[in-house]
Amino acid sequence: MAESTTAFTVDPARLGGVTEQPLFQAAGRVAERMGVRAFAIGGYVRDLLLARPCKDIDIVCEGDGIAYAEAVAKELGAGHVHVFKNFGTAMFTLRQAQDPGEVQVEFVGARKESYQRNSRKPEVVPGTLRDDQERRDFTINALAISLNAEDRGQLIDPFNGVQDLERGVIRTPLDADITFSDDPLRMMRAIRFATQLGYLIEAPTFEAIRRNAERLDIISAERIHTELNKIIAAPVPSTGFKLLLNSGLLVRFFPEMVDLLGAEEKFGIGHKDNFYHTIQVLDNVAERSEDLWLRWAAVLHDIAKPRTKRFEPGRGWTFHGHEDKGARMVPGIFRRMKLPLDEKMRYVQNLVALHLRPIALTKEEVTDSAVRRLLFDAGDDIDGLMILCKADITSKNEAKKKRYLANYEVVLQKLKEVEEKDRVRNFQPPITGQDIMAAFNIPPCKAIGDIKTVIKDAILDGRIHNDRAAAWPLMVEEGKKLGLKVVPGMEKSEA
Ligand code: ATP
Ligand code: MG
Repeated sequence: MAESTTAFTVDPARLGGVTEQPLFQAAGRVAERMGVRAFAIGGYVRDLLLARPCKDIDIVCEGDGIAYAEAVAKELGAGHVHVFKNFGTAMFTLRQAQDPGEVQVEFVGARKESYQRNSRKPEVVPGTLRDDQERRDFTINALAISLNAEDRGQLIDPFNGVQDLERGVIRTPLDADITFSDDPLRMMRAIRFATQLGYLIEAPTFEAIRRNAERLDIISAERIHTELNKIIAAPVPSTGFKLLLNSGLLVRFFPEMVDLLGAEEKFGIGHKDNFYHTIQVLDNVAERSEDLWLRWAAVLHDIAKPRTKRFEPGRGWTFHGHEDKGARMVPGIFRRMKLPLDEKMRYVQNLVALHLRPIALTKEEVTDSAVRRLLFDAGDDIDGLMILCKADITSKNEAKKKRYLANYEVVLQKLKEVEEKDRVRNFQPPITGQDIMAAFNIPPCKAIGDIKTVIKDAILDGRIHNDRAAAWPLMVEEGKKLGLKVVPGMEKSEA
């Protein structure tokens, strides 16, 4: 197996003293009183060993998890306990002095599970710690720490999870086909952990994902996009997309992206593979921004290339209009994946629609007015757009790449100058429809929109300043051209 590239080191010394904390002390005392055994388990233990920040703590007990949770909360004087009867779980929020200040503690009774073929809903029966560890998804997620008097602080690692943490390996505790068939979401989780941690998925586990990929169809869109978003938010998201592609999972929920794959050739002329280009752009954006929606814009920026692709004699491969068609595809993709259909989606759409503009600008000389129009169209999305645009420069031709990057800097500089001078980033028309109606004493009508457009264009073209004093005479002049009469005394803006 190849060396892993994980950025984390495993340090069992981090276990030392962890059970001293008040939560685990209280959990131990209550367990003893109730005559049950209890353990910290799962992601919390994994992240403790990796020194990753802890978000939530899971505690499992061999007994009634809800009753146990309520007793521990009482012992600690913690607040309200939320009980999820259907799942047999209970949780409360614990405030602590040390970082991160507040943690969710979730309790569950140890259980065995058996699954029906067509749903994720398992039949649950009480079990031992060992049963519970076996139904966990990966060896690195099946680690437990005893909270009990006789062996408090001891790590219980029946599947060599610590070794897998050290080697950087994702592997299921039991037969991978059963683990994935029981709950196909685990296939997404495998790829998510491999991407977040920079781990490798062990061959038998990966082959089982390939064999069971179709089973992902029973998983809800929300659960899938939760994992996908974690992949996109990872430091090197391309890793995850390659695994999603090669495992056969990607096509189950994101066929448009799979369509980007491949480089056709005609008469010896090829085009770049837009799948690998897209994930390269995504990595480039990820280096410069944590913003999930900017990263989504990278994922989708060329999504319409397959649908706009043509071979034009004399010109080679073209993708005319892929930015507009791509922007129009965004709502359908977001709706199907149950992603938010709000301003986040509109942001992604806007970036997809505009992603060619900054570099296209440089094809001719970069004029103030072209820059002003870009600022006007992008508004507050301009900063994200410029990051996306730079990330999109992936040419293998070094000379071309250098030229594009130089052009990019010119546009960036010009943007700064123009914005300082003209403030068109959040353009507010200096003259409103109300002003126009009052100046000519007219009701709402088409002329008002026409006059506003003339004023906006004059400002964006740099013919007049972006202020009322400069715009008023233009309004008067345009009104007259349309046969309107100015109300006496309103020839000047101060009137
Ligand atoms: P993160 O919190 O970073 O998303 P996690 O591994 O802690 O990762 P959680 O959803 O918090 O994930 O789950 C906590 C633990 O519950 C996991 O570590 C694992 O042991 C178990 N678990 C969660 N989801 C599954 C699943 N679908 N199948 C099996 N075990 C699971
Ligand atoms: Mg967790």
